[in-house]
This record gives sequence, C-alpha cells and structure tokens, in this order.
Amino acid sequence: MPVIPLLPLFHRFNSQYFENSLTVNNHPLVKVRWSDNRLKTTAGFYKRKRINGFIDSEIILSKPILSKLSTSEINSTLCHEMIHAWVDRILKKNEIHGPNFLEKMNQINEKEKNFQISVRHSFPIERRELKYIGTCQNCGEKFFYRKRIKNIACKKCCVNFFNGSWNKKCLILFD
Ligand SMILES: [Zn+2]
Ligand SMILES: [Zn+2]
Repeated sequence: MPVIPLLPLFHRFNSQYFENSLTVNNHPLVKVRWSDNRLKTTAGFYKRKRINGFIDSEIILSKPILSKLSTSEINSTLCHEMIHAWVDRILKKNEIHGPNFLEKMNQINEKEKNFQISVRHSFPIERRELKYIGTCQNCGEKFFYRKRIKNIACKKCCVNFFNGSWNKKCLILFD
C-alpha cells in the first residue's frame, strides 16, 4: 500500500503549531516514520530512549491502519504524536495526556480547519477483526486486539516511564 511522505507534514505542523521548536537547523529533533505492516493495535505512538546520555526519540505511525483512512486522520495522528514529542523534548515534562498536552491540543484544534486532534485514537481500526478493547491502567489509552491477552502492558507507558521494561502499573485490562 502506498503511503504519503511524513516529513513534509512534520515540517508544516512544526512551523504552524510548534514555532519550529521540533527542528534544529531544519533537522527534525524527533524521527518520523511509517511502521511496517504489523502495527495494528494503535494508529501511532511516540517513543524515546536514552543512549549514552543522549535522548533518541521517534514518532511511528501505523501503516496498516492509517493507509486505509483519509489524510485528515493521518494529520490528526501525526499532530497528536508531535504534541507528545513537544511535551517531552521541549517542555521536558513527564506526562501523557496531561494539562500541557491538552492545552496544546485545544490550541491546535481551534486554529485547524481540516482535522481535529483527540486524546484517543478513535478510528475504525478493523473492528471486526480487532474486537477486544484493552485500556492501559496508567494512561487510559485504548488498544484493539483480536483476543484477550493476559499480562500485556502498554508499550508507550513502559517506554516513557520504565525504560522500556514491562511494569504492572501499565497493564492493559480488557472490558
Ligand atoms: Zn497520546
Ligand atoms: Zn499507557
């Protein structure tokens, strides 16, 4: 499936909504890429890790989910993840969908005519196939699965708060 290039969009939103703070000498501070065909549980995510004292962060958008949807959903997901990157890298705040995130989201939603950002990615994620909904106990984000899985943890929260290792505070519980 063909997908649109993300970097031009990233630069556009960076200048429109983030005062170019997410680039240094026009180079993105955060990598942006499409996932492979396996990422089917979330429309996108932001992750960061620390390598030799340097922070390496990345926005990954789900190719299998978003390539079937419209550009406005791609824009909305990218902007959502860019707010996570901005809260983490620029504000250096440890929050997921906290007050800084929400304030920025509302600001963008007021200005933006073509799409709106939400806290949850409420897209029609192949619901027939992925009929089980799990909720992260830490950030409240919802994920879709083919079956209930025991002891699965929210990847975003494990990456953001527990150095990428499994922690029961971010267990995903099923309805
Ligand atoms: Zn989020
Ligand atoms: Zn979480």
